[in-house]
Amino acid sequence: MQRMVLASRPIGEPKDENFRLETVDLPELGEGEVLVRVHYMSLDPYMRGRMDEAKSYSAAVQIDETMGGGAVGEVIASNHKGFSTGDFALGMFGWATHGVAKGHEMQKLNPDLAPITTALGVMGMPGFTGWYGLTELGKPKDGETLVVGAATGPVGSMVGQIAKSKGLRVVGIAGGSEKCAKATDTYGFDACIDHKAFETASELRKAMAAECPQGIDIYFENVGGKLLDAVLPLMNVGGRIPLCGMIAWYNAGGLGADAEMESLSGPRLWRSILVNQLSVKGFIISNHYDRYGDFLRDVGPKLAAGEIAYGEDIAEGLENAPAAFRSLLKGGNTGKQLVKLI
Ligand code: NDP
Repeated sequence: MQRMVLASRPIGEPKDENFRLETVDLPELGEGEVLVRVHYMSLDPYMRGRMDEAKSYSAAVQIDETMGGGAVGEVIASNHKGFSTGDFALGMFGWATHGVAKGHEMQKLNPDLAPITTALGVMGMPGFTGWYGLTELGKPKDGETLVVGAATGPVGSMVGQIAKSKGLRVVGIAGGSEKCAKATDTYGFDACIDHKAFETASELRKAMAAECPQGIDIYFENVGGKLLDAVLPLMNVGGRIPLCGMIAWYNAGGLGADAEMESLSGPRLWRSILVNQLSVKGFIISNHYDRYGDFLRDVGPKLAAGEIAYGEDIAEGLENAPAAFRSLLKGGNTGKQLVKLI
């Protein structure tokens, strides 16, 4: 089998030398474990944080260790009564052609119900993140205005579509005119603003103000950076900010000093939370899987009925995972970034 390990810790943007492709023996199957041949692996923004040693909500990948992550594939051997050879399953198999996991930590998939890739995107962790963050923390109400960045990604596109179904005005922010067209035409956003067309936060803010004539009630925070700077002064009193991610700063390394990170000064940010009486709530989706069943019951039928659209961006081959990952961190992906291994 092949696996991609962390060879060294990146400073700033990850480079080829930070990864190493290795050929190793297949792992032995222990009690209650299942061996899976991976068909698709997931690339997610959070993986950048795991490459750093900085304190975070979960442990860093160690040097020479396989890069972690979710993947889907076919069971080729099983020591668990819940899984048989030929079953399809989701598990944390990492960046590797094969993976072993405890059966009770895996999820069986029915490929007749939905393509197995959807378990990594629209019906998996990112889709669930968008649904949970919006419904639980955003508390959307009919007639309100919502703004979300990374609008065509698996989190942002779920947020936008659920918000639309609840009667909100939905304004996306995305990188480039093609992505913006996707946000409005495929995902039904009312408007989408291309952040690359604006040099400064104040220019971006003017464009957002024009699309949000009633102000902003919910800012679903995926990005940070220029977007946060632009949005804050437009928030309405009593607004909510589900704090989901801040990808614009991930390459800055933990919460260290960085020129762009200083663009939003602490006092200004703090003051705007006070004067607008904003509710800002950070959340880590892995702590909320007690709600995953509710998500499946709500969104599953909508997906089956064609009421929820989704997009996938599929790279090929484990050797190309680092390049696809770098591209994801810079907005090179349109839709859920996957790597096809077989
Ligand atoms: P996406 O597939 O949307 O990929 C990330 C996108 O971020 C890029 O395509 C790009 O879109 C945008 N982006 C990157 N850099 C910048 C920048 N400097 N300024 C503006 N936009 C940028 O990712 P996901 O949907 O998987 O994740 C979205 C966010 O949600 C991330 O921050 C992620 O970390 C977070 N997340 C948090 C979870 C939690 O538990 N809290 C769980 C899952 C995800 P564009 O080209 O349109 O700008």
